Amino acid sequence: MSNGIHHVTVIGGPAVRNHDFYTRVLGMRLVKTTVNFDDPGTYHLYYGDEAGRPGSILTFFPWEHVAPGRLGVGETQETVFRVPEAAMGFWTHRFIEKGVEHQAPEKRFGESVCSFKDPDGTRLALVAVRGAEAEPGWSGGGVPAEHALRGLQGVSLLLEQREPTAAVLTDVFGFREAGTEGSTTRYVADGHAVGGVVDIRAVGGFLKPRPGGGSVHHIAFRAKDDAEQAAMVKRLKENHGLETTEQKDRNYFRSVYFREPGHVLFEIATDEPGFAVDEPADALGTSLKLPAQYEPMRERIERQLPPLAPAQPAD
Ligand code: ZN
Repeated sequence: MSNGIHHVTVIGGPAVRNHDFYTRVLGMRLVKTTVNFDDPGTYHLYYGDEAGRPGSILTFFPWEHVAPGRLGVGETQETVFRVPEAAMGFWTHRFIEKGVEHQAPEKRFGESVCSFKDPDGTRLALVAVRGAEAEPGWSGGGVPAEHALRGLQGVSLLLEQREPTAAVLTDVFGFREAGTEGSTTRYVADGHAVGGVVDIRAVGGFLKPRPGGGSVHHIAFRAKDDAEQAAMVKRLKENHGLETTEQKDRNYFRSVYFREPGHVLFEIATDEPGFAVDEPADALGTSLKLPAQYEPMRERIERQLPPLAPAQPAD
């Protein structure tokens, strides 16, 4: 049992700008257009690879007037996407051309990594992965297929202490410790190319975070099905004294949530049923999908949400 990351959810800025950046600049597929189930007046936008498979998904709650967040201890520092090794030059050139704030590529754990930010200051990075060109991406967006993102590599967490969170990663989610570089220790989920890395950067005495635009709201880990999720919930309680919420039906997966010992909000999301449950796989994300309880309010909800432009072909 080692399942890796299912998705990462971020607090975004204006929806139109968010959609433009992720589909046109990063070339991701909008795989689901829906609303925040706890606040149906705002979008919940899911971006991923062609199929929206677990491990490729970055999602946003876009708020039109959000104040920018400030990084602090007890939150996610960075979210990292995999790209083919040969694509790194394309991406650094693209970041310059599109005016994307970025750093020169650097080596981390022997891999070439380029950090960048979205228009809301979300801390992102690309990692060059040998052989990733053979994995599925998405060719219908703003980026040619050979350079397209190949899902998430993972996240880095900025924490006061490493051990209590590491214990949850290894005991409940099946990660193993895979090395230390400076103040960062790497944990990997073996056998999972996508979403298989969590780095913990332990820094005592750092500022507390101020959540806002660009802040990661939560990280979801994968469970194959309800039974595996229930087994994880039991381990959390028995071995770590951590209680989760009751299971919530998110239509595309079923979820429980808990705050891990380092204060980051974790979710456990089932792989089933997936994004093709309410629209055909070739039409993912093209129309607004609402959970049954909000269907009667559709007209009012649609009036409130800013229209998103259709995806553009590669440029
Ligand atoms: Zn989630």
